[in-house]
Amino acid sequence: MLTKELTYKKAFEIKNNGLKQKNAKRDFLLKSLYAENKRLAEIDNEMSSIGAQLALTALSGNSEKIALLNKRSKVLSAEKSAILKRAGIGDTAYDCSLCQDTGYVGGKICDCVKKIAAKVILEDLNRQMPLDECTFEKFDLNYYSKDGENARKRMTSILKLCKEYVNGFNPEKAENLLFMGSPGLGKTHLTLAIVSGVVEKGFMAFYGPAENLFNLVSTERFSGENKGSYEAMLDCDLLVIDDLGTELSTEFSKSVFYNLINSRLLSKKPTVINTNLTMKEIADRYGERIASRLIGNFNANKFLGVDIRQQKFLQENRGI
Ligand SMILES: [Zn+2]
Repeated sequence: MLTKELTYKKAFEIKNNGLKQKNAKRDFLLKSLYAENKRLAEIDNEMSSIGAQLALTALSGNSEKIALLNKRSKVLSAEKSAILKRAGIGDTAYDCSLCQDTGYVGGKICDCVKKIAAKVILEDLNRQMPLDECTFEKFDLNYYSKDGENARKRMTSILKLCKEYVNGFNPEKAENLLFMGSPGLGKTHLTLAIVSGVVEKGFMAFYGPAENLFNLVSTERFSGENKGSYEAMLDCDLLVIDDLGTELSTEFSKSVFYNLINSRLLSKKPTVINTNLTMKEIADRYGERIASRLIGNFNANKFLGVDIRQQKFLQENRGI
């Protein structure tokens, strides 16, 4: 389970290790070159003596001498660069010219670290879900032609909605989405594509089947494990609750669900929910209070079609 803090800690570790390795390699090459070429140490000595003289001369205000010293300094540094270049040692090549691999620009976290953080989150998610299989490109609308044009039309517009959701994603403005419909119609597929897209844009998304999410909160509350999970679910830029309704229904899970939804609505943070339940079943299971929150604040979309897993099974086994 990755909290924002942990994700960024890892991202900075990766960034810093990269820089360290680069510097270590360059330092090693430099050291052996200095051992071979005595001229380098001479240049360094003369340059530091010029530096000291410059400081003194600046106080006296002798501009002619300052110009001379600067000129000599330039000649020396050109000579040094040429020696290094001949030995194949360039300046440190930073991965990111914006922050020179420090990870910060003007006191803010640089985009390059955000990209690494996204990779950290996606790798973590990939261990749980087949993220690479669940992209918008791999969402095949051909599976929705079986029961007339209706399903295909509906799913075409839902696919469009999801793509636009990612393209224009802004955690302060994004709407809440509720995907409903029978199992096997691609709800998880599309929400995972949303998660990847949003994370790749540098936002923190938290995804999990309802059962896992509620269990995380429960273990945090009762055994002290998974510290920070609940806060991460409340604070993330996008919370995705998959498979709502398949979890064991307890008073605790109901209250976690209600509090998550209510708190995120109050702080105007977007949530995406997938469920096989109808609105009436949601009301029966979680109560009218939560059903009315969902009706009033979520853009509900019903998935149509014929179970894709069944279609694939039939295709694969046809003729056997
Ligand atoms: Zn950077």
